[in-house]
Amino acid sequence: MAHAMVVTKSPKSVAGLHEASTMLVEREPVTLGEFSTQELYRELIARMHEDPSRDGLLATPGRVEKSMAFLTKGYTQNATQILRGAMFDVDYDEMVMVRDIEMFSLCEHHMLPFFGRVHVSYIPNGKVIGLSKIPRLVEVFARRLQVQERLTRQIADAIQEAIEPRGVGVVIEARHMCMMMRGIEKQQSTTVTSAMVGCFREQQTRAEFLSLVRQPGNSNL
Ligand SMILES: [Zn+2]
Repeated sequence: MAHAMVVTKSPKSVAGLHEASTMLVEREPVTLGEFSTQELYRELIARMHEDPSRDGLLATPGRVEKSMAFLTKGYTQNATQILRGAMFDVDYDEMVMVRDIEMFSLCEHHMLPFFGRVHVSYIPNGKVIGLSKIPRLVEVFARRLQVQERLTRQIADAIQEAIEPRGVGVVIEARHMCMMMRGIEKQQSTTVTSAMVGCFREQQTRAEFLSLVRQPGNSNL
């Protein structure tokens, strides 16, 4: 790669790069790759008209970097790998249901949280998944930038691919901070999405699943 541009190294903020890029805009697309994640967050804070060097904010870029790495760790995890080794042959053909799985994700449009509960159900066809793996599966897909519809579908598809059950149903009830915090003030609204695969598309199975979802939780369990 022929890089004609030399950006002054180690600027205190990306503003240095901004000046350089204005001069070089015709020659080279701007790359921020040489800045650390913390430098970029520091720059973002400055652009919010804040002072990133004041006491309370000094360590913030580092904390945000860590926190965002945690909230998006699903990108480095693999659903197939998690389910492998947790599948068992079982002669059971009734509905398996794990409900009220806590879910926290980030909407990909605003990078603000959406959170709620996931209900997962399937009817085995010779194989079941270790129950503790289902919340982990939810985590793999929730800890990414998401839309609720895709999250719902990915959970259902991963189970379908792993054990090829007779069917899978996933329902997510969630509240979106991008709706609650910003102007439109729909604080109480819940978004419900569902994905039905195989026999869960049939009226009777779907109805049984949805009635289980609607039953009030038993917090004494
Ligand atoms: Zn959003």
